[in-house]
Amino acid sequence: MMKAAILGATGLVGQRFVQLLNGHEWFEITTLTGSERSVGLDYGKAVNWKMDTGLKEAVAEFTVQPTAPKDVDADVVFSALPAEQAVTVEEEFAKEGFAVVSNASAHRMDPDVPLMNPEANYTHLSLIDEQRRKRKWDGAIVTNPNCTTAVLTLSLKPISTRFGLRNVVVSSMQAASGAGYPGVASLDIIDNVIPFINGEEEKVQVETQKILGEPGRSGLFNVSASCHRVPVIDGHTEAVFVQTEKTASPTEVARCMEEFRAEPQELKLPTAPEHPLVLRTEQDRPQPRFDRSEGNGMSVVVGRIRSDPVFAGIKYVALGHNTIRGAAGCAVLIAESMKSQGYL
Ligand code: NAP
Repeated sequence: MMKAAILGATGLVGQRFVQLLNGHEWFEITTLTGSERSVGLDYGKAVNWKMDTGLKEAVAEFTVQPTAPKDVDADVVFSALPAEQAVTVEEEFAKEGFAVVSNASAHRMDPDVPLMNPEANYTHLSLIDEQRRKRKWDGAIVTNPNCTTAVLTLSLKPISTRFGLRNVVVSSMQAASGAGYPGVASLDIIDNVIPFINGEEEKVQVETQKILGEPGRSGLFNVSASCHRVPVIDGHTEAVFVQTEKTASPTEVARCMEEFRAEPQELKLPTAPEHPLVLRTEQDRPQPRFDRSEGNGMSVVVGRIRSDPVFAGIKYVALGHNTIRGAAGCAVLIAESMKSQGYL
């Protein structure tokens, strides 16, 4: 078994890591960290547990450690820190030789940091070699995408491979859990839609190009995003409009999405869903309440694939679990991909 630490283990994404790593075939939790508020407390006391499965007693008894390399014993470090802390802390860990897989946005766009959604860009992990050379460290920083980008890029990957992308427009309906806990005040979100999420649209635009480009070279297509917070607990829904390089019919797009498999499926990595994309043909699916747990929260569910008259392209609706495919689950799959490529 490899030893795994979770930085920021008491937050919503940190809790999702604890849940997903419980009983994992390859990784065993050895360290949980938090802020000064939690250090020294039992994890069970420090955390406001929000997951839908119980917290295991053995994990509840872990003492929360400071978020510093000398207090961590691990082969892989999963970071669920706020971006402001991640920017320096993750570098300190990499300098001390730790492999860090991060959910934070701090390092996503660094040219020598792989920004990974494994089924979409498995080979981008090779940037770690350049990073180690340039930064003169034995550790590594690898990041996962923003939650909306994770759902979008998985759905776009087979279209990109088969038809090429020219223009992508996405309008998101994002769950409240995407803002962490306690996140958006209930009086702001109940009976409401908030048409602004700070920094989100810019992240979706640049991260999508980085993931669907070559390693170290962003894809040469345009992305325009409009992001909105809606009163859903988990599951981001996205209306996507795509102009492709080669003509694509809805039937052809449906087929290439349905047939889509990538290295994580071929290698049968423990967290890889059997079907990265699941197609629904009913006219009123996907819906967050019914579809967010598909593939244990790792599949993206796509429906309503149809022609788009403005782009002379196609449009569809995609839905994915924001704290699983969009955060902790994606990071665990990245660590599995790193192990299978010899980076752990
Ligand atoms: P959160 O619920 O606010 O949790 C933040 C965590 O960071 C807590 O464990 C907190 O510990 C810890 N922390 C805060 N300040 C710290 C400090 N100075 N030193 C050490 N630890 C500190 O946030 P979240 O939603 O889990 O998000 C975590 C990260 O993942 C963020 O960068 C976020 O942008 C990213 N992300 C979130 C989602 C999502 O869907 N929620 C998706 C993708 C990416 P204490 O509890 O001990 O204070």
